[in-house]
Amino acid sequence: MSIATERTISETRSVVRPDVVGEQAYGIVRDLYPICRSITGAGVRESLRQLQGIVPLTIQQVASGTPVLDWHIPDEWNIAEAWIQTTDGTRLVDFRNHNLHVVGYSQPIRKRIPRDELLRHLHSLPEHPDWIPYRTGYYAHSWGFCVPHALVEQLTAPEYDVCIDATLAPGQLNYGEYLVRGRTDNEVLISCHVCHPSLCNDNLSAIALAALLARELSALDLRLSYRFLFVPGTIGAIAWLAQNESAVRRLRHGLVLTCLGDAGGFTYKRSRRGATTTDRLVEHVLAHAGEPFSVRDFTPYGYDERQYCSPGFDLPVGRLSRSCHGEFPEYHTSADNLDFVTADALGGAYALLLQIVEAFESNRSYYNLLPKGEPQLGRRGLFGAVGGTDRAAHELALLWVLNQSDGQHSLLDIAVRADLPLPVVTAAARLLEQQLLLAPCDC
Ligand code: ZN
Repeated sequence: MSIATERTISETRSVVRPDVVGEQAYGIVRDLYPICRSITGAGVRESLRQLQGIVPLTIQQVASGTPVLDWHIPDEWNIAEAWIQTTDGTRLVDFRNHNLHVVGYSQPIRKRIPRDELLRHLHSLPEHPDWIPYRTGYYAHSWGFCVPHALVEQLTAPEYDVCIDATLAPGQLNYGEYLVRGRTDNEVLISCHVCHPSLCNDNLSAIALAALLARELSALDLRLSYRFLFVPGTIGAIAWLAQNESAVRRLRHGLVLTCLGDAGGFTYKRSRRGATTTDRLVEHVLAHAGEPFSVRDFTPYGYDERQYCSPGFDLPVGRLSRSCHGEFPEYHTSADNLDFVTADALGGAYALLLQIVEAFESNRSYYNLLPKGEPQLGRRGLFGAVGGTDRAAHELALLWVLNQSDGQHSLLDIAVRADLPLPVVTAAARLLEQQLLLAPCDC
């Protein structure tokens, strides 16, 4: 293998077509959409197997009953069929038509029950009578159906037949893991949850983008290593943390990805510490990306940032999404479907992810090797080295980098102080390094 022929992230970013990648991501979402996923079971395994066609991730397994931090891996849940019928055999609800129809982790049941009892096990959305809600009861030891409210209002017979042909038995929890090795062991964690059934924005959007990003990075010359996790929400992240307590020390940055395929602007949720280099880099990229965005402080509610940012780990992991969970009407309903996400939104999110990776890669600290007085840049061909309208910014960046590179200031520190985009400051540092005026003081 010849490292020298591999592209850098900056070279890649300049040639990647977000529209093309957006279509690829949308295709992955479409392929995974029909699969009934949960926190365990055949659906997660099948989804991970399909992702192996994009990137050769490892499918890890942890046996039911295994203690992980304060939790135990639950029994595995699998479902074959489920329905509600009238007593004369007319099928009113069928799991085969939509896998949101069954509450995740429902206990098996097959019997004739009175209408009142059935109603106690039905979930619907009166404000959106045609949508099916998404509900789970991983630890509820119960059963239930999710149905359009319009159907509930038609249930007037005294009795109904219900069937949930499901199994809850010792098995395993599975998650996908893929490490892209860079030149150093310092790692970036990219994590997304894979436990939701037919829901597109939450979270097939992030699964598709993470898989494509992993494939892209695996062909690049990288400084940092990138660990991709495709984990069932909560229990999967907890299982990974329990089994990798020593590995987290290598973590320099991390992102939880979710809800990246809708029409909303970007939302970044800061890590628990709030001003880690991850937070500052992502916020800097967003500030220069030219797209609508908002930044939020950490809260102990949301996705797996809750686990990565629990106080015993307190990792520099933020969360990137477009719209936030619970803040769009389609969230956790059948309306979060293939019409709700677009290739355009997915492609835009991919382009942003590449910018963030480029920022992670380039943010280093340097020493000015000729710190007494300004080096004579004109003699070295550095003034005027970059033409066009950015010339003034590039020349200013050279001066800022030389002045601030005392080993104490990173390129991000310099970019913020100079009010310049990080790529401009990075390009200046690269030129100065080539002229032997600058040397990195870290790896
Ligand atoms: Zn969700």
